[in-house]
Amino acid sequence: MTASPELADRYAAVTAGIADACAGAGRSPDELTLVVVTKFHPAQLVRDLVELGVRHVGENRHQDAAPKAAELADLPLTWHFVGQLQSNKAKAAARYADVIHSVDRESLVTALASAERAPDVFLEVNLTDDPGRGGVSPDRVEELAEAVVATERLRLRGVMGVAPLDEDARSAFARLRAIGERVRSLAPEATDLSAGMSGDYAEAIAEGATHLRIGTAITGKRPAPQ
Ligand SMILES: *Cc1c(COP(=O)(O)O)cnc(C)c1O
Repeated sequence: MTASPELADRYAAVTAGIADACAGAGRSPDELTLVVVTKFHPAQLVRDLVELGVRHVGENRHQDAAPKAAELADLPLTWHFVGQLQSNKAKAAARYADVIHSVDRESLVTALASAERAPDVFLEVNLTDDPGRGGVSPDRVEELAEAVVATERLRLRGVMGVAPLDEDARSAFARLRAIGERVRSLAPEATDLSAGMSGDYAEAIAEGATHLRIGTAITGKRPAPQ
């Protein structure tokens, strides 16, 4: 089986969009990692994406991601976990996830630090005013960064955020970038910025994103979650 022309077209359109946004921002696409978010899609879609050149995929539910990653263990992929993660699933997720973008509390840091294979981590920052949303509040980010550094096992890559629906994405990502700079002042290795989805990746690139998490613009509409 080969990738459908529609999938290939959407992938080409997004990579062209990324190149345009980079040109506008005076950046090189080589500085960026495109994580294609394949949540709810079957394993075959991931195979098709690999055929198109994709090497990084993202998932947001452990119960879906674990069997998919096992089925696709033969592929040259880096797996990114981008969704809410319960502490009691953290060790299991670290068996296949190379990078966890959604670390937002110390219990998760502790659980991941004791995994057989220590993943790289991003601290997810809550950019909304709603404390019920995922992500650590901006005033607690340094504390969490220190907890990651103290494990001496987890590699802190940087911060991750999702732009709120009621705010201009560019200004939300500018706030995220400033928070990332605060983290970097205490953990100099934490230079990455995970920001930008299908609808706002150009704004994220303008604000220095290094990891884009793009789903529907490439995969097409998601099937309903099972
Ligand atoms: C689903 C998801 C994405 C991708 O969203 P699209 O709008 O489909 O590009 C990115 N980040 C996270 C955390 C997600 O859950």
